Amino acid sequence: MSRAYNFSAGPAALPEPVLRQAQQEMLEWRAAGASIVELSHRGPEFMAVAAEAEADLRRLVGVPDDYAVLFVGGGATTQQALIALNFAAAGQPADYVVTGHWGRTALRQAAPYVDLRIAASGEAEGFRDVPARADWRLSEDAAYVHITANETIHGVEFREAPDVGEVPLFADFSSSIASEPLDIARYGVVYAGAQKNLGPVGIGVVIVRRELLERAGQPRADIFDYRLQLAADSMLNTPPSWNWYMLGLTVKWMLAEGGVEEFALRSAAKSELLYREIDGSSGFYRNDVAAAARSRMNVPFFLHDAALDAPFLAAAREAGLIGLKGHRVLGGMRASIYNAMPVEGVRALTDFMQEFRRRHG
Ligand code: PMP
Repeated sequence: MSRAYNFSAGPAALPEPVLRQAQQEMLEWRAAGASIVELSHRGPEFMAVAAEAEADLRRLVGVPDDYAVLFVGGGATTQQALIALNFAAAGQPADYVVTGHWGRTALRQAAPYVDLRIAASGEAEGFRDVPARADWRLSEDAAYVHITANETIHGVEFREAPDVGEVPLFADFSSSIASEPLDIARYGVVYAGAQKNLGPVGIGVVIVRRELLERAGQPRADIFDYRLQLAADSMLNTPPSWNWYMLGLTVKWMLAEGGVEEFALRSAAKSELLYREIDGSSGFYRNDVAAAARSRMNVPFFLHDAALDAPFLAAAREAGLIGLKGHRVLGGMRASIYNAMPVEGVRALTDFMQEFRRRHG
């Protein structure tokens, strides 16, 4: 067996110890007589797994007591619709700051339910920067201000929570949660799909300031109601129990590795290595994002000649480096370097990039 260094954007690499533990517990979880995914979600075994995952996630991310944590199916995209239904009155303004593809996706999900306001957008400049805060046009009566903390495709990241005054800040942290210390108190809602930093695809988390759950929102089915989900411990229906279990293992691994402070150091080191290689390549490789807004998690880059893309990917595969093909929206390459990617993997990539440049420069 030879596992490659996997730079896929999501589903993404999982820590090998997590996969090994899951493998070990696949046929029988502890002494339960069955796999965890074969047992009732209401039984004591899974209830313990679920509660432990929440406690560990709260510790890892630093979730204050006045915030609820929901474990949800449907991915981040579904939450982008549900936040509007749960927290905005019908037709109420909602402000969106768009810094890439996922911000655009977010506003499309909310569009049927709110008076959509684009407070700022980097689109005209090709999403190469976070629009200056001074230029945002915020609405005083907005239900919330929505940002994408890290744009997975365009590689644009907020380096701090923007000040938006009294209106609660909602943030999509799908591709950067748990990669550095996060002051949850600055946000009304933080949500994330799990499939980058938290575990496997099929589950997500919504961290919400409890007082916001008192908002009436809009008419919606029970299953779309965060309040009811919370009252049912995120088990209004059968939850994705295997994914929840895997998320729990991944979170435990991150705690054991030193938590978000440690991953902040590793992420800084990994992303610096990669950007240094790109910037020092005399134009052979290129990343156009403004230095202060460059993502530490997703590094899109282009070869100076697109005809080299296919040979680059083929040679990378040969060298044990996979998942580097850029998203179809942008083309080019993208290296996603989430918490499960060791610094050795990034070093292997930069070594490969140097070698490829020597051969084709
Ligand atoms: N937001 C961001 C920042 C993402 O990266 C993604 C997926 N790559 C999504 C939302 C959509 O997530 P999902 O596919 O889980 O709905």
